[in-house]
Amino acid sequence: MSTELQVVADEAATCVRCGLAETRTQVVFGVGDPHADLLFVGEGPGADEDRLGEPFVGRSGKLLDQLVLEEMGLTRERFYIANVVKCRPPDNRDPRPDEIEACNPWLEKQIALIDPKVVVTVGNFATRTLLSTKEGITKVRGRAYPFGAAVLIPTFHPAAILRGGAQQMAQMRADLVRAKQALAGAPGDAPAEPAPAVAPAHEADDARLFE
Ligand code: SF4
Repeated sequence: MSTELQVVADEAATCVRCGLAETRTQVVFGVGDPHADLLFVGEGPGADEDRLGEPFVGRSGKLLDQLVLEEMGLTRERFYIANVVKCRPPDNRDPRPDEIEACNPWLEKQIALIDPKVVVTVGNFATRTLLSTKEGITKVRGRAYPFGAAVLIPTFHPAAILRGGAQQMAQMRADLVRAKQALAGAPGDAPAEPAPAVAPAHEADDARLFE
């Protein structure tokens, strides 16, 4: 980690700006190349992340690593990965708006110091936070957005893919190809995607991941 980013991480390690400080095992600040051109931003730590102190280390993280390697040819040390909230919401509940707001200065500092060319928001919470929108991921994904001097590309949370979304898997792959093109400076037009399939019935139960 760069010196400046390490200083911020050290400060965040004792943060008590919101109630999540009371139930966390540790602050999960972020990992990867501090000078990366590519930054992934997810939702918040789960149980594995809270225990190990690293974002995206459970099944979702393994799937994300696999898809990034297959579609972008990058391993984890080539990018940086963080979350909108740095402490685990208890019982895997959604992070609350006040918690996201309290934690946002840490994310803003990370983004400023890493200074990525491409930011990929993973799932609804990161996308809504960084794009300042109430729209869900299904509506906003499929294109690139200006984000300061960078480009922001929204995609699904891999947890949504693990819950059975074959169509979402193909769309997430297309989003990662879009991110690869943006990194290379190519126009961010969407690569061809498969025609919409009939969604499995259980997806209706998973509104927070797909809305
Ligand atoms: S979630 Fe963020 S704001 Fe809340 S205690 Fe953890 S580091 Fe601080």
